[in-house]
Amino acid sequence: MRRHLAATAWAVAFVAAFTAPALLTLRSGEDSALASQLAVQAGLLATSALVCAVAVPSRLRSLTRALGIDGVLGVHRWIGMLAALLVLAHVVLVLAANPANIALLDVRHAPRPANAGVAATVTLVALVGLAVLRRRVRHHYELWRWVHLALAGSVLVLSALHIWWLGDLVHDPAVRTAFGLQAAVLLAVLGYRWVWRPVFDPRSEYTVRTVRPKSETASTLVLEPRRSSRHGAGHPTLTFAPGQFAWLRLRRSTATGEHPFTITSSAHLGLWVEFTIRHAGDFTRTLAGLRSGDSVWLDGPHGGFTVDNVRSTGLVMIAGGVGITPMMSMLRTLAHRADRRQHRLVVAARTHEELMFRDELESLQSALDLRIVEVISRARGAAVPDQLDEALLARVLPGRYRRNKFDYFVCGPPGMVTDVVTALDALDVRTSRIHTEQFDLV
Ligand SMILES: Cc1cc2nc3c(=O)[nH]c(=O)nc-3n(C[C@H](O)[C@H](O)[C@H](O)COP(=O)(O)OP(=O)(O)OC[C@H]3O[C@@H](n4cnc5c(N)ncnc54)[C@H](O)[C@@H]3O)c2cc1C
Repeated sequence: MRRHLAATAWAVAFVAAFTAPALLTLRSGEDSALASQLAVQAGLLATSALVCAVAVPSRLRSLTRALGIDGVLGVHRWIGMLAALLVLAHVVLVLAANPANIALLDVRHAPRPANAGVAATVTLVALVGLAVLRRRVRHHYELWRWVHLALAGSVLVLSALHIWWLGDLVHDPAVRTAFGLQAAVLLAVLGYRWVWRPVFDPRSEYTVRTVRPKSETASTLVLEPRRSSRHGAGHPTLTFAPGQFAWLRLRRSTATGEHPFTITSSAHLGLWVEFTIRHAGDFTRTLAGLRSGDSVWLDGPHGGFTVDNVRSTGLVMIAGGVGITPMMSMLRTLAHRADRRQHRLVVAARTHEELMFRDELESLQSALDLRIVEVISRARGAAVPDQLDEALLARVLPGRYRRNKFDYFVCGPPGMVTDVVTALDALDVRTSRIHTEQFDLV
């Protein structure tokens, strides 16, 4: 319920920010041609959409908790596309209002407001093109991310200069106030995200307690607040909901790489937090080499993939590969809470060796009413490989009547999440009961 209220409050705030400057110009009752008025409206809406598109992914905890990280990124992409369409509409309407305005596109002779507008439009087109190509450049994600941020910042600055140099709009006190408010809120959000939290907030610094190898390809990282190691134990660690994640950095500065990892420990452990990390590439392999006493920095908790957001008679958790990590935090927390409901866990992996937490899951079965189903797609010696499909889920799920009294948590690589959601849909599970998280921001 609180999650829906928060999501509604955020939606109202964004709609207000999006429409305010445009609505305020309507009030001035200008008597210019319709196309000119529409051009101004499209431009104002585009600027507000850009501001919202930058604010949405700025790691506002209440927003990531209300929408989940997949939801936040979906909204960000949607608003970004809307901003691009509005900018194109603005350009077309400026030309429709007066075809002689085509001269404004000649950067050598056009006045500076027009040049700033053209530069903002070209940069925005590059930004959208790069966003569409993001899956193709997935192996250079960090580089892609920095170019994306630089282009987004340039579009905002160029748009602000375009409006400022045009002058007419900022002379209207009401519109000036609306833009001023937007700019102040955006600067506060960005300052909190990029400066206060990483550089000044002492709670973001953690010390490595231990790094435990979990298997040949994964390790568990145990962290405690830096303040505990400096001033003696007892400083409470991150307060989080089971299933949430945090961004992890190896340096204080946000200019270094940051990667998201799910907290695997129970939400009631109190003094330290654990992450289980598969060594997928450079960054995750570096983590395996951390030593006890090293400093790392956390930005979190984030995300809405948590049992604490739902009320149901039981849970069905479906995990692919390292997607087991949020399920571990949820199950450990439920065991701490002596939860009595019925739960099912479906874990998919290529081989038995890849399955993580097998021993602990077995012991959790004595603390919880938990049924575990392992799905091994490349089991040695198996005549027919297991498949995580509709037929398997039909055997695992509760009967038709009780099916929609359970909540379903699905986590893993994007393809697996999509397939499972399609299968659940075919089994008549209501969409509102299905919660997903993809371990992929790209
Ligand atoms: C919400 C969320 C929770 C996650 N939780 C876990 C977890 O508990 N345990 C675990 O082992 N993994 C988890 N991951 C995946 C983990 O973040 C990536 O495996 C890790 O960032 C890879 O970095 P790398 O440099 O070692 O590998 P690379 O080989 O550089 O990257 C492998 C893939 O990871 C993605 N990736 C790379 N860099 C980043 C980045 N800075 N931010 C986001 N994605 C990136 C890209 O898709 C890339 O193709 C999670 C991912 C998300 C989105």
